Amino acid sequence: MVEKNSIEILRKLVGFDTTSFKSNLDLIKFIENYLNDFNIKSKLVYDETENKANLFATIGGDSKGGIVLSGHTDVVPIKNQKWSSDPFTLTERDNKLFGRGSSDMKGFIAVVLSRVSKMVETKLNKPIHLAFSYDEEIGCVGVHGLLDLIEKKSINPEFCIVGEPTSMEVVIGHKGKHAYGVKVDGFSCHSGQAPYGVNAINYAAKLISYIEELNKEKSKIGPFDNEYEIPYSTLSTGLINGGTILNIVPNLCQFEFEIRHLAEDDPKAIMQKIHEYGDELITKEMHKISPKANITFAEIINYPGLNISETINPVKQVKDILNVSKHKKVIFGTEGGLFKKKLNIPTIVCGPGSIDQAHKPDEYIAIEQLEKGGKFIDKLISSYS
Ligand SMILES: [Zn+2]
Repeated sequence: MVEKNSIEILRKLVGFDTTSFKSNLDLIKFIENYLNDFNIKSKLVYDETENKANLFATIGGDSKGGIVLSGHTDVVPIKNQKWSSDPFTLTERDNKLFGRGSSDMKGFIAVVLSRVSKMVETKLNKPIHLAFSYDEEIGCVGVHGLLDLIEKKSINPEFCIVGEPTSMEVVIGHKGKHAYGVKVDGFSCHSGQAPYGVNAINYAAKLISYIEELNKEKSKIGPFDNEYEIPYSTLSTGLINGGTILNIVPNLCQFEFEIRHLAEDDPKAIMQKIHEYGDELITKEMHKISPKANITFAEIINYPGLNISETINPVKQVKDILNVSKHKKVIFGTEGGLFKKKLNIPTIVCGPGSIDQAHKPDEYIAIEQLEKGGKFIDKLISSYS
């Protein structure tokens, strides 16, 4: 049975509109007060505007080790989405709870908070740390301050669970992502005199074709990890903008592309190739016509991939608790890669709700998933008693 509490907490959490570009402080203050009622002190780590904060709290003493339960508090926008009910009012229909963030991932946070009383009552032999971040949805931006804090405290957690919606399946890997904006500055002239100009669209097209060549090359030379549906790193261009009118040779074209890479692949080496090709275009072709022509790259976001061994203890422990033998690797990114890369904490992604419902209109979490998540945390607590 689901503790009524977790639904009530989820209702409260969904009620705070924490879309990534807004403040999450009301929600963070709610959690801080909630924990305070159990005499648990929270440490808030603010961003530079002081409009957003991460929250870190420890239950069960200050010994080293223990486990981190991690989640992000922000949600994706509802803009241009048609919802059947108010996205920020948790609404029950057919044993499902609808609301923005219900599955991604306020459901997990609600389940964790609903078990705080149990964590406090249980004589834990290892601490349980709660780590809630901001601005995950715009590229795992906020969690860095939280990771710095954990590092400074040198608590060396044994492992971390990022409760992204996996339908409570055990996820031990996801790809990393590096996204870039590219600006191609050409040189304008009358299109009837095209050879006198530097056509920014043409050079953007050359670069984009090269990026696609690298994408095809990756599918042939790897590295490969067959636990993924697409077992190699991929490159993809997703946005382009250039030119003003047909009879002007365009002097500007901008586009964005991304690399989704296996944790063991090296996105820097891929970028090196793209930079070298760009430099070649500039010096061998563009500068021959105009010395001002240029290609510049700006990083938009990056987060590392996650890949942990299925043979390590935390994976076995989580599988035992869930009574499953399988694990998987997923297409979506999480903060898990950063926990592993920056702090070397083995990190498993496992939480209630399905990624299939995330980011969509009428996002929901099945009540049955909240129950499963609750049972999981219950057993986790028992394993530390
Ligand atoms: Zn998420």
